[in-house]
Amino acid sequence: MRDLSNNRDRLAINSATVKPWTLEQLVDGCARAGISAIAPWRDIVQAVGIPKAGKVIRDAGIAVSCLCRGGMFPAADEAGRKAALEDNKRAVDEAVGIGAGSLVLIAGGLPKGSKDLPGAHKQVRDGLAALLEYARTAKMPLAIEPLHPMYAADRACVNTLAHANDLCDELGEGLGIALDAYHVWWDPDLKRQIARAGKRIITYHVCDWMVPTTDLLLDRGMPGDGAIDLKAIRAMVEATGYDYYIDVEIFSANNWWKRDPNEVLRICLERHQTVV
Ligand code: ZN
Repeated sequence: MRDLSNNRDRLAINSATVKPWTLEQLVDGCARAGISAIAPWRDIVQAVGIPKAGKVIRDAGIAVSCLCRGGMFPAADEAGRKAALEDNKRAVDEAVGIGAGSLVLIAGGLPKGSKDLPGAHKQVRDGLAALLEYARTAKMPLAIEPLHPMYAADRACVNTLAHANDLCDELGEGLGIALDAYHVWWDPDLKRQIARAGKRIITYHVCDWMVPTTDLLLDRGMPGDGAIDLKAIRAMVEATGYDYYIDVEIFSANNWWKRDPNEVLRICLERHQTVV
């Protein structure tokens, strides 16, 4: 593994932060800016094709902190659940193909028209268990990412770190946690649950919570611009021994996505040094 003792080298750029860029542009842009790692979403990897994506990344000497994302397990019927599992197996293969540190998974919400939240929780558990068999063979760590409760119905019904910890307790080896400060910062139990998670935290993401937030998905802030005490959360995470990448992941349709991505990278690097 790389030496990440220099704080600058801890920064990874999630492809959502520089949304307009292709994989090649992301790799080139990070290399130019002196940023050593990326966290791509599957769409830009698939657009290039896995063998070429792996080659582009390796040739540039860029590391892949994690691949975003699979999951979305609940479905209205067996065929839907099977399709989700097959897609998730492809995501594991993609993660292996680009040398990702882990595959990030979000739970998925309620099947269309359903009000059965406990049923959705069970489908997530069963989906994770089925995917784990495949991922263990492929030696690809899975990272379940609890999302803010506002997404429980449509994107992810695993909403607290406690729930993610429970799933890890139950399902065991091969399952870890993607901790994203944006989704968990509000939790009064955060410090205890981070300590409980310990080495299970295998990827850590940051952005900021804007006040007011004008869009549930696409109004995330640059670290330092919002309400989250990112230094305090990082200290809790690092108290577990976490010394891997810190991914800046910003969905921002009306602000950061409209700026020059090179400028966005420069500001990410600066904020990573000062407020993360
Ligand atoms: Zn995230």
